[in-house]
Amino acid sequence: MTITSDKTISTPQLTINGASQTSDETLSVIDPSTGAPFIEVPSASLAQLDEAVEAATTAFATWSATPITERQAKIQEIGQVIRDNIDELALLVMREQGKPLQNARGEIMASLRQVEVFGSIEFAPEVLKDDETGKVVLTYDPIGVVGAITVWNYPFLAAMFKLVPGLVAGNTVIIKPSPYTPLSTLRLGELLQSVLPAGVLQVLAGGDELGRALVEHTGIHKISFTGSVPTGKAIMASAAATLKRVTLELGGNDAGIVLDDADPDVVGADLFWAAFSNSGQVCAALKRLYVPEDKVDVYAAAIAREAAKVVVGPGDQEGVTAGPVQNAAQLAQVKRLAQAAKDGGGEIVFEGEIPDGPGYWFPTTIVKGLSEGNALVDEEPFGPILPILTYRDLDEAIERANSTVYGLGASVWTANPDSTETLAVAERLEAGSVWVNQHPVVTATIPFGGVKQSGIGVEGSILGLRAYTNPRVLNIKR
Ligand code: NAD
Repeated sequence: MTITSDKTISTPQLTINGASQTSDETLSVIDPSTGAPFIEVPSASLAQLDEAVEAATTAFATWSATPITERQAKIQEIGQVIRDNIDELALLVMREQGKPLQNARGEIMASLRQVEVFGSIEFAPEVLKDDETGKVVLTYDPIGVVGAITVWNYPFLAAMFKLVPGLVAGNTVIIKPSPYTPLSTLRLGELLQSVLPAGVLQVLAGGDELGRALVEHTGIHKISFTGSVPTGKAIMASAAATLKRVTLELGGNDAGIVLDDADPDVVGADLFWAAFSNSGQVCAALKRLYVPEDKVDVYAAAIAREAAKVVVGPGDQEGVTAGPVQNAAQLAQVKRLAQAAKDGGGEIVFEGEIPDGPGYWFPTTIVKGLSEGNALVDEEPFGPILPILTYRDLDEAIERANSTVYGLGASVWTANPDSTETLAVAERLEAGSVWVNQHPVVTATIPFGGVKQSGIGVEGSILGLRAYTNPRVLNIKR
């Protein structure tokens, strides 16, 4: 594959049973900075899915019996291949996702943490008892063939979050990237054909229909999914038919509560980036900010100061620090919620610049004057818009922060991060992760997942690795 200076990309293919395959069906990939399709990639047929499952099943026999240290050596090789091809992979992420090139590169670099952590983690059987009466050993067996279904905001990172622990645990993995962003995952599959035995890792691009078929397939034993709550529910219902294991990393509507002791000049910039990184397209971005009522204007000003520095534009343009919304449907959602905010009496306290012309552009937008009951507050925008809400009483703020079906992340902002009050607020927030003076932090060494309707299970850490296994007990009587 070559990429020329005019950004022409040669088409990455599906990876099935260790080799590239094309397909009669194709998917059109749209450049979010123009709104125009720029490449067609093969879309896997149901017959190709069957072929991949068969190859994965065959490969599982050998891969699962390979010592973990050898599997981890292969993971280290994957890391090297990614490092060797980082420029090309970053360009693909930039083209398909829309984010600035340096951020696309950052996404690839962040994915290498998966390699570092799971490529060397200790994962041995545990002896639970060993005395004169007997011995009990707990092992973590691989589950079988894993179907990994990913999303479009961090396409490469999401794939690596699944394939690395999945493979280290001894499973074979079939990845289906989002139809909006298949390029970097397809290319990774091609690059890894020379590293991994045939059938161990396969990449099938395709639409939602292919995702449904993957979940229904009797030859697949676990689904690891990142995406929306409605799709997560559909997957769980469908997986019940074969009792597949599921890990569901779903949406969020994360609240942040600023305590009275915080200094807007100290936390303003961090609050901005908590909400607006990746143009707000982060599952655990800060999506509702609660500040003391008498300080709303100073916080709005402090966050707007950082917002004013952002340059929105195409990812390959010099100086750009934020890209477009990734797709038309998401842009429509953000626009609908912005309109609801205006209709509901919201006051726009900051609205940034966007490029003229086509592309899925939405200005960096900060709104005040809203409360619960307005759609911008109640729903997940997943785009560059933040409502700043006010509170008088801290108990009431906590209650309002928790008044949602979501429970992915939450944060507390304060000048006293270790104080009893801070910890008491943090403890009462209903979320899988509660951060203090930051939001979000997601990395390979720390479990990350949602409570309530934000998901089931976690990724990251030894817990995320165990999620790709079935615990098995050997119990000996002496
Ligand atoms: P989506 O659920 O529509 O699609 C995600 C993936 O699921 C795609 O690959 C899609 O083709 C596939 N899919 C769709 N229907 C399916 C079905 N019935 N069965 C199997 N697969 C199916 O997600 P989206 O709306 O495009 O993504 C945005 C959402 O993802 C947001 O809610 C965001 O918060 C969430 N998200 C969560 C995390 C997390 O880690 N918790 C990370 C990123 C994004």
